[in-house]
Amino acid sequence: MIFSLEALQAGAGDCLLLHYGPARAPRFLLIDGGEGGTYARTLKPRLESLHNPRLELALVSHIDDDHIHGVLDLLDGLVTARQRSEPELCQIGELWHNSFDRAGPPGPASVAQGAALRAAATSLCIPVNDGFATGLVVAEQAAEPLDFGGLKLTVLGPWQTALDDLRRLWKKEQKTACLADFANRTAENLSSIVLLAEFQRARMLLPGDCGGDLILAALERCGRMPRGGQFAVDLMKVPHHASHHSLDQTFFERIPAEYYLISGNGKHGLPHPDALAWLSAARAGRRYQAVLTHRTGEHHLTAHLTKFLKSEAQNQPQHCYHFRNNGDLSIRVDLLDRVRYLKSCTEV
Ligand SMILES: [Zn+2]
Repeated sequence: MIFSLEALQAGAGDCLLLHYGPARAPRFLLIDGGEGGTYARTLKPRLESLHNPRLELALVSHIDDDHIHGVLDLLDGLVTARQRSEPELCQIGELWHNSFDRAGPPGPASVAQGAALRAAATSLCIPVNDGFATGLVVAEQAAEPLDFGGLKLTVLGPWQTALDDLRRLWKKEQKTACLADFANRTAENLSSIVLLAEFQRARMLLPGDCGGDLILAALERCGRMPRGGQFAVDLMKVPHHASHHSLDQTFFERIPAEYYLISGNGKHGLPHPDALAWLSAARAGRRYQAVLTHRTGEHHLTAHLTKFLKSEAQNQPQHCYHFRNNGDLSIRVDLLDRVRYLKSCTEV
């Protein structure tokens, strides 16, 4: 059996392929599609290498370009292939994505992308948010974990209040929408679909770009974490590309993990040195493995990481850091392998 998370090279964004089930016939979930260019550069060749896989679920955590763009490109490619009666790259069982009004006024780019995605899914007859009564993925409507062939998905977020904020943005009531302010706590980020994925004895936290405080509150609210207590996971996709606006040391203290997956290529200063320092301080003296999609990048990422890694080697030798090799499509963590391993793969 496998239960692994593969982070594809997605530039500043997220493009995650979750593998689970029998190693010889795994099932797949796609979580986000990365920024523009990710589909052509990495997602398409990766899906081609899997020979027409079935994605049980394709999920867009939220409508920001660095998460939605590649999924929109994927669906556009499937629409074109179907129109031309050409072989389709993959099968998609269902799509989870929160958007409101296909016919809404022209809005900020990512809002328009959300509407386009829903339209593409409809033309492909892919069910959107199937099983959610209001047609939106909301934590309140998924009190019990949802079963995808043995994989249990608990929807921790968004809560209805975060979606109400997003709906106001969608209606352009907030004329000064903060869409360009990637680093801050935007309505889009806070409305991220937050999942707890559990398979056999392992669990992953997949929080999109949600704020750490909301994730802690959600775990308490659904009874998975005692008030003020801790909730350990095997793997955490660190929220919001390790933004210092979305996290603090307390978050890392209260959700300890064995593996941390950190995405981002330095754009907008993410992953941020403060967030990496908080992770290290929260787990001082404890062993962990951190997996980063980029060792080099924009906004002094290369220099920040060099300084941080030097300090960690001296002060926290139990903390191990791994990076996707330049040129590799992805880096992957498997949680069920008898000897847990890290694999930077292009060939699997
Ligand atoms: Zn993002």
